[in-house]
Amino acid sequence: MIHHPIIKVALPVPLPQLFDYLQAEDGSLTPVGSRVLVPFGRRKLVGMVMGHVTESSLSPTRLLRIIRPLDQSEPLLDSDLLELLEWCWKYYKHAPGEVVLSALPPALRKAEGKLPAPPVHYFLTQAGRERLEQPAGRQKTQYRMLETLAAGARAAEALVGIGSQWRKTLARLMEQGWVEQSPAATDPPVFAPGPQLMDGQQKAVDKISRDLRHFHCHLLDGITGSGKTEVYMRLMEEVLARDRQVLVLVPEIGLTPQLLRRFRQRLGLEPAVIHSGLSQGQRLEAWAEARAGRAHLVVGTRSAAFTPMPKVGLIILDEEHDVSFKQQDGFRYSARDVAVKRAAQLNIPVVLGSATPSLESLHNAFAGKYAWHRLRERATSASLPRWRVLDLCQQNTFHGLSATALEAMREAIEREEQVMVFLNRRGYAPVLMCQQCGWYGSCDRCDARLTWHRSAGLLWCHHCGSQKRVPELCPDCAADDLMGAGEGTQQLEEALEQHFPGIPVLRFDRDRTRGKGVMAMQLAEVMKGETCLLVGTQMLAKGHHFPKVTLVVIVNIDQALYSSDYRALERMGQLLQQVAGRAGRMEMPGTVILQTLHPEHPALELLLTRGYEAFARWLLEERRVAGLPPTGYQALLRAEAHQRSDVEKFLREAIELFPQGEALAHGPMPAIMERMGGRSRMYLMLLSPSRTSLHRQIDQWLLSLRNLPSSRKTRWAIDIDPYDQ
Ligand code: ADP
Ligand code: ZN
Ligand code: ZN
Repeated sequence: MIHHPIIKVALPVPLPQLFDYLQAEDGSLTPVGSRVLVPFGRRKLVGMVMGHVTESSLSPTRLLRIIRPLDQSEPLLDSDLLELLEWCWKYYKHAPGEVVLSALPPALRKAEGKLPAPPVHYFLTQAGRERLEQPAGRQKTQYRMLETLAAGARAAEALVGIGSQWRKTLARLMEQGWVEQSPAATDPPVFAPGPQLMDGQQKAVDKISRDLRHFHCHLLDGITGSGKTEVYMRLMEEVLARDRQVLVLVPEIGLTPQLLRRFRQRLGLEPAVIHSGLSQGQRLEAWAEARAGRAHLVVGTRSAAFTPMPKVGLIILDEEHDVSFKQQDGFRYSARDVAVKRAAQLNIPVVLGSATPSLESLHNAFAGKYAWHRLRERATSASLPRWRVLDLCQQNTFHGLSATALEAMREAIEREEQVMVFLNRRGYAPVLMCQQCGWYGSCDRCDARLTWHRSAGLLWCHHCGSQKRVPELCPDCAADDLMGAGEGTQQLEEALEQHFPGIPVLRFDRDRTRGKGVMAMQLAEVMKGETCLLVGTQMLAKGHHFPKVTLVVIVNIDQALYSSDYRALERMGQLLQQVAGRAGRMEMPGTVILQTLHPEHPALELLLTRGYEAFARWLLEERRVAGLPPTGYQALLRAEAHQRSDVEKFLREAIELFPQGEALAHGPMPAIMERMGGRSRMYLMLLSPSRTSLHRQIDQWLLSLRNLPSSRKTRWAIDIDPYDQ
């Protein structure tokens, strides 16, 4: 340590570097992976020690000393995790300190934050037993506590019930030598028997089990209800039985009490749960349990990908296609890609599960890079639903619902079943469409679909950056009926109440379910099984099992079919499969009605007649021709500022500086959400047939971008493998 007097520190500031500091004068230890408090400008910051070196590029007089180490006894992060974080900041081109500090639970990003002391158990000594044989006398509380502990060692929480003075009592008993403490042992998991596996499940389990001791990426591609979770649990058993830990990542909406209950029941353990909805204390505790290797199983959302787990032997990502695995601001990483990277670094297997795998993962499966395990049968008797496509051009509509759909709904209600009406409005780039003939704007230069920027009255091509004005009348049929695709359904809830008087309408969308407990209350209402109408957005599509829903109506899918966002179709296909998985989960067969102005869309037809895989192959071919991911590699330079002119100026100068190479830069163009929080947002799109050259060119570019004066007037960031524009 003496030979390496300079510490490299990662600090939570948006600068692309580590910072050099001198060791504390008293020679206190600052192991790599531990935190230090350092002076930074006028502030004091908590940083992470990344290394020790002998020389700094700063002159010795400018080097500052750390204020003090914060975790002297042991580092918080091990070298494996630090290696992963370093890969992240280099790959995602994000400030190292922000990446590293984001791996800590919020409580440890503060100087006062400390790892909680490991939990202890209290147990009765021989002297304590002897005391119990005497009469209680006047020390009733002490006696009661001794009695409690006589039944077995207990955690402090188990003693709270003894009385308000329990802490004092416990201290007294320890003074007397009647009670001692020891580190709480974690109970080994106790597996409960599961169902007899079906052929497909058994095959997947056998194949993956053979491969559990080294890195391999497995894609578990199984339709809803095919028993993927059952497969995960068999694999978890094998890994847990070897005293290794398991990390399970789920989408935000997938972390349900039901899932945790299943793990608890089958695996006989208490999962450590990590997600952003927890209090800082709860999160810290779960993190510490994982880090100490005491938690056998960690279940968490996106950010849990960075949980330290010294004995991790298996990583599972459920619903791997879910967009919530991609962080959409700040450090923009994909938890799926990070998980795969982490598994590779640790030489352990990773299982990606989905009923509708992402095109990225399918591409890797088709290419033989991922082992591909398919489950094509449902584990329960539920049958798959029937699809009906309704051509909206030929139908009268009532607030967006066709007469045929209304009739089907009426029939379901008469049979005392439940109906789900699904609005597919959010999350897609707006498309202007003629409600009479289905015309939509496409680019004259490159054939891409145009995005409607309503406030500016413009149609933009997000492919080449060209634009045109919104026409007054439909260019094809001259009707005065141009509207955003899927609009006119805002009042759907009221319209349904009017049309089906006396039938309860339950709305599920972000506005309605914001209130605490509203979601749970409405779900309970649905579960009662009485006739009702469920109206909702994406939120309804995932995770919930509605046994009494036999009819799903998807009001309008055109916005997704004709979005300029090339991922929209993929997401639509995934959503339709998910929605279909909601209909007729139990014995009753379900029907799904799709309303569209374009029933002839080739991808839609493939999806409905030949299934998701054929649909995905068609999309992959489309992407290959366009050089888009996963065949090509993409990144965005995003920028925003109060003045649109500042953003535009910066991006115009930036594109001039983009280095020559295989990767090409396009734009600038407005973001699909053009204004947000009073700022104008635009971007450049970078596309390349080679990942290596894309990254090389961007790294080189970043050096010159930072010196552009116009870069200081905007907030800008690189988004690698972006999910939306
Ligand atoms: P998925 O995760 O693919 O949607 P699940 O694992 O949740 O599927 O299984 C769906 C339902 O089928 C669950 O109720 C589960 O308990 C049950 N199940 C799964 N595998 C079997 C099996 N081999 N035999 C009987 N029931 C099963
Ligand atoms: Zn028209
Ligand atoms: Zn174009």
